[in-house]
Amino acid sequence: MSDTLQRFLFEHAPIRGEFVQLSATWQAVTERHDYPPPLRRALGELMAAGALLAATLKFDGRVLLQLQGSGPVKLIVVECAAGNALRATAKWEGDVTDGNLRTLLGDGRFAISLLPDSGQQGYQGIVDLEADSIAAALEHYMAASEQIETRLWLACDGHRAAGLLIQKLPESGDADLDAWPRIGHLAGTVQPLELLGLAPQILLRRLFHEEDLRVFEPKPVYFRCSCSTERVTGMLRMLGRDEVHSVIAERGEVEVRCEFCNRRYAFDAVDSEQIFAPVPPASADSTRH
Ligand SMILES: [Zn+2]
Repeated sequence: MSDTLQRFLFEHAPIRGEFVQLSATWQAVTERHDYPPPLRRALGELMAAGALLAATLKFDGRVLLQLQGSGPVKLIVVECAAGNALRATAKWEGDVTDGNLRTLLGDGRFAISLLPDSGQQGYQGIVDLEADSIAAALEHYMAASEQIETRLWLACDGHRAAGLLIQKLPESGDADLDAWPRIGHLAGTVQPLELLGLAPQILLRRLFHEEDLRVFEPKPVYFRCSCSTERVTGMLRMLGRDEVHSVIAERGEVEVRCEFCNRRYAFDAVDSEQIFAPVPPASADSTRH
């Protein structure tokens, strides 16, 4: 199964949908850290949710979903960048036992951030974590923060993650008023095994065979981490010369690991001289606004 995002529309109802299946993308995230199984599944569900949500937003930039908790799981972060590039990471302490979202995270918050590629001011919405599942948390967020009625069904097993989303569009004049509850009911019959195992066209036909559905070309989804030597260098500059030099004096190098892809960046004394070399006046001028 390839990793795809499938958009669809109901021709005679103001409702749209997205369906996503993630296999290699989810595996690329979970193979990089030794996550406990319940957390691997939560990561998969939040990744599917991130791809679905990003697909419904007309937005040039990165969409960041963050679950912060006080339970065994402290943090789950999923980022969806342009072209359906996903990355994700999580932090936890001690044993993570199976259970619902509240068992994993305890009291917590769910935040969604929109970070424009243009570098302009971003936007963040935060709600308290009151739901028992990631799907319910996102539904609650969309209702409370965006006033958009959205429903989601998410699943993740040991191999892949998947999700289905339907969203109510602003009502049109002669819209079918019964459509939202009817289509929500049909979508709600979906089983986790169907989400995970059926091809998009087959799943959509099975759920909505009596509806007039327009199905778009599927789009690929993939794992990509945006970390780079330049970004890590920038971070070390913020830390400051003294701090970096004292680490190098003690250990011979300063090591930074990307939390998302686990890639290792190392800088020795010679590298550090370059990081903190004075910027020539010409390029300093060109970066001034
Ligand atoms: Zn990385």
